[in-house]
Amino acid sequence: MPGFELFGDRERAETRDVLDSGVLMRYGFDAMRNGHWKALEMESLLATRMQVKHAQLLSSGTAALTVAMASCGIGAGDEVILPVFTFVASFEAVLAVGAVPVLVDIDDTLTLDPQSVRKAITDKTRVVMPVHMCGSMADLDALQTICEEYGLILLEDACQAIGGTYKGKPLGSIGDVGCFSFDYVKTVTCGEGGALITNDPEIYRRADHYSDHGHDHTGTDRGAEEHPFLGYNFRISELNAAVGLAQLRRIDEFLKIQEMNYSILKEGLQDIQGIEFRRIPEGGTQNYSFLNFFLADEEKARLAIRELAAAGVDSCFYWYDNNWHYHKKWDHLKQMKSLGHLGEEVLQGIKNWRKKDFSISDNWMSRTISCLVKLSWSREEVLQRSERMRLVLRNL
Ligand SMILES: *Cc1c(COP(=O)(O)O)cnc(C)c1O
Repeated sequence: MPGFELFGDRERAETRDVLDSGVLMRYGFDAMRNGHWKALEMESLLATRMQVKHAQLLSSGTAALTVAMASCGIGAGDEVILPVFTFVASFEAVLAVGAVPVLVDIDDTLTLDPQSVRKAITDKTRVVMPVHMCGSMADLDALQTICEEYGLILLEDACQAIGGTYKGKPLGSIGDVGCFSFDYVKTVTCGEGGALITNDPEIYRRADHYSDHGHDHTGTDRGAEEHPFLGYNFRISELNAAVGLAQLRRIDEFLKIQEMNYSILKEGLQDIQGIEFRRIPEGGTQNYSFLNFFLADEEKARLAIRELAAAGVDSCFYWYDNNWHYHKKWDHLKQMKSLGHLGEEVLQGIKNWRKKDFSISDNWMSRTISCLVKLSWSREEVLQRSERMRLVLRNL
């Protein structure tokens, strides 16, 4: 997955443009910047590539989720439904705007289960946030139907699935708003960065202002700009955008490598008894950043992960035990270890959540192994890896 594996001359050249002018900020300084607007250029490229009207580049994927939430008018006491298998950033963004994270089950897609979403809806629910984990998507038709029925916002966290599609549309472009991360380990990287995309001009206008202290970005005198509403600073730096611009131009090259490496690994495991691949919703195409499969039970999965490591197959993950991606280890959230006071609704929401049963998700996750698909492997290395994985898993 990581774009950093292929960091090279093109990334360096874009960055040099910025260093040469010394304008490290994305806004203003028109006369000094030698015509370089890397953030703007990357936004335009991203909007085109994702077939949407608007893209707003931000300082991180977490910032993108937070700005998305704020731009949809989400605030204190509003409920946001999201899955128990995700990255902590998803609920951090919800908490950042004072809203209540309502974490629900996943299904065999390893993403938000539409049935569980339906059961979790209350009169406070405002947003449904599927997280397209490990390169593949939630059942977006079913989620869209639910959102339409209840008048909810569909916010796609596509941070781990950039370049994947659903029924021909890029992931992130299907909901009211979609978010990407360009942190150092994502398929496309800025070093640090993120973006939101939308077809809604009002969500975009709000995101543009909110992420820059409420600046309305009219005229040429920053100091004289108006602030129609309260904002924050979630700006990306021009340097980070320069790296991302070079990387985003290569996205289809990256995706092709991922798909090729993924296909070789998958082919090797195809006929092994007791291995089942994660379900891809009908009409979906992954970005192939991870190969995900289920073993028969937890014991087998634990054995498999140990044996894979022993055989020198690195970068395979057992998320069930992971501190950052699965609810079991989110003690800081469960114990509400916030540096400052949390709102009453949030405290109550977390208390209710702690009591819930997630045995459905536990059943999927305790059997899941995810192997990262890298961009920098030689063909030799992929074939060797495939052979090793095959041997280990066949002999379990
Ligand atoms: C990486 C990631 C984020 C957050 O992105 P950052 O740029 O690291 O803040 C959010 N959600 C998911 C699913 C991620 O994988």
